[in-house]
Amino acid sequence: MDSIKAPRGTRDVLGDESWKWARVLDVTRGVADDFGFKEVMLPIFEHTELFSRGIGDTTDVVEKEMYTFIDKGDRSITLRPELTASMVRAYLEHDMRHLSQPLKLWGWGPMFRYERPQKGRYRQFAQIDFETLGASNPLADVEIIDSSMEIYRRLGLSNLQVLINSVGCPKCRPAYRDTLKAYFESSAHELCDSCRGRLDRNPLRILDCKQPACRALTDNAPSVIDSLCDECREHFATVTQGLERLGANVKLDNRLVRGLDYYTKTAYEILSGDLGAQNAVCGGGRYDNLAEAIGGPHVPGVGFASGVERIVITMEAQGAYLGNEPKPDVYVISSVQDGTYDAAVIAHELRESGLSADMDFMGRSIKSQMKIASQNGAKFVCVIGDSEAASGTAGVKNMATGEQETVPRGSVVENIKNKIS
Ligand code: AMP
Repeated sequence: MDSIKAPRGTRDVLGDESWKWARVLDVTRGVADDFGFKEVMLPIFEHTELFSRGIGDTTDVVEKEMYTFIDKGDRSITLRPELTASMVRAYLEHDMRHLSQPLKLWGWGPMFRYERPQKGRYRQFAQIDFETLGASNPLADVEIIDSSMEIYRRLGLSNLQVLINSVGCPKCRPAYRDTLKAYFESSAHELCDSCRGRLDRNPLRILDCKQPACRALTDNAPSVIDSLCDECREHFATVTQGLERLGANVKLDNRLVRGLDYYTKTAYEILSGDLGAQNAVCGGGRYDNLAEAIGGPHVPGVGFASGVERIVITMEAQGAYLGNEPKPDVYVISSVQDGTYDAAVIAHELRESGLSADMDFMGRSIKSQMKIASQNGAKFVCVIGDSEAASGTAGVKNMATGEQETVPRGSVVENIKNKIS
């Protein structure tokens, strides 16, 4: 029988990588605290309608990429492809608009999209997600963009490019759609098959296409900035000026429309020069109509999501500090495996005293245990060989200096604690 493998597009994050994730999340949590974002933990599956109404029926995510199934109660359920719609759902469900506004929420966890897997693109991936709900002030957009950049700054990332655009609002977007449609219709035969389909349904998405022929056409496409209404134009000006005042290096990109329909006004993306084809490390923007789209009142919102795998890949590629791989303070070595609990008791006492400790369970020779202690990066070993067991003592060795001494069994913990501090 063939052995069972993890499904395509998923990956096991093992012990040699998970501590890097811990650093990303620690730094993120620090930024969230410093900016006043509260952590929330939301369900991994939601009613399908939340995404079809929220994200938009004509988006790739909803049309092609959702993991949807009928549960045993005959409900259509979808594994969340992103977190923003769930955040807004939770905000509405818990009546948060009656609390002091805005609500600044953050969360992280696995998302699911049926995409073609490649490096940096998976079917299950983790996102960090920050959302400011209830504020239409453009300075909230500035703060969201700044908070994402602050995470990367604290992680020591470089070679990042922030792209920003405005995608207008329901007042000015229809006119832009028409202008764009008229522009692309005259060269429809040059568009790829998908974009020809988008021409009627969602011409803005053509701007996002990576096919060379479509890209060439979009070079001269009318700019959305020229079609913005006064409100959107002022909003965008405040956002860009605000970012400038913070010293943020951002670039205007008129082609940036993003894959999700709910964006209004600000849209932004952060690209990493060290990611290859899947180079977006962060995407976000304003979504003032999402709450209404999912059946709630008008609630303005702005947020971003960033892929944890892509952050870790970028950190590795740039040699950024990845945190410390956990290593034991002490490895307890014993030649007397059966009939005595010495090693287990010493390990227990060390842990109780606040140190980390590990020991052997495989009946290995002292020499092999010493080798494992060294491989595991233990700072000290505590050895109870036959003679130490007989005399009620233990050997303590500093692995960095090679210094060793024999100490009474009862003072092992104190001895090592003193040396470590
Ligand atoms: P989006 O929700 O599409 O705006 O994506 C936000 C961020 O999530 C992107 O910038 C990526 O960092 C990450 N991301 C999106 N899709 C994937 C995927 N399939 N695999 C890994 N990371 C992803």
